[in-house]
Amino acid sequence: MSRIVLVTGANRGIGLAIARAFHSLGDQVIATFRSEHPADPFHWLQLEVNEKDSVDRLFDEIEKSFGPVEVLIANAGITRDGLILRMSESDFDDVIGANLKGAFLVTQRAAKGMLKLKRGSIIFIGSVVAMLGSAGQSNYAATKAGLIGMARSLARELGSRSIRVNLIAPGFIETDMTATLDSDRKKMITSQIPLGRLAEPDEVAQVAIFLAGESSRYITGAVIPVDGGLGMGN
Ligand code: NDP
Repeated sequence: MSRIVLVTGANRGIGLAIARAFHSLGDQVIATFRSEHPADPFHWLQLEVNEKDSVDRLFDEIEKSFGPVEVLIANAGITRDGLILRMSESDFDDVIGANLKGAFLVTQRAAKGMLKLKRGSIIFIGSVVAMLGSAGQSNYAATKAGLIGMARSLARELGSRSIRVNLIAPGFIETDMTATLDSDRKKMITSQIPLGRLAEPDEVAQVAIFLAGESSRYITGAVIPVDGGLGMGN
């Protein structure tokens, strides 16, 4: 049966790979973008994930045209890196807004529909840096660590209604976000990854497919690494 799947930040990178993977299974994919989107045949809707009005407009439209969201992938996220003494308040607030508050806002609306349906799967996209830490990313790592606490709290709140909440913790994935790393830094990072390479976005998408599906029906509150072994032991 085709599910109603919402992927935030789906116009590029990991979000686009996730949207494509669900679409290829025959699901109805609602994909969000901000300024422009590729030609993929999803239902494209605009979203500023950190703005409540925008989130409300998105869900009003989805619920009117399609019905309640059964699978939510809260993927939209940003980095605004800087060492602590140089990090501006707005760099801190923007990252909290997009990565943490944004996930809260979309989850709150999605959970409402899932509670009525008495089923659902919520997947947060976290990061290996939540556990490892990362110099220059105190804002970003804090949001990704915050998502783990949020996912586990919601797993407890919503589990009795057959709504599962899990988090994927990617390592380094080949997207625009990592394209800014210079080649020396990339070499250094790769040397620390047991599998010896960065990942393709689809390698994250395949785990999202698993977490949304029946094969993972007894898994909730889990943090699933997709990091080539970089974060193992955490
Ligand atoms: P990209 O920078 O390639 O894409 C980010 C996506 O999020 C874009 O679609 C972007 O939209 C959207 N987005 C950002 N801010 C907002 C906002 N305020 N409202 C709505 N949409 C927004 O990133 P990745 O694909 O690499 O990352 C996706 C997720 O995976 C993020 O949460 C990231 O933290 C996480 N991650 C990525 C890793 C990596 O190595 N790439 C590693 C670990 C985690 P627009 O195009 O309009 O800017």
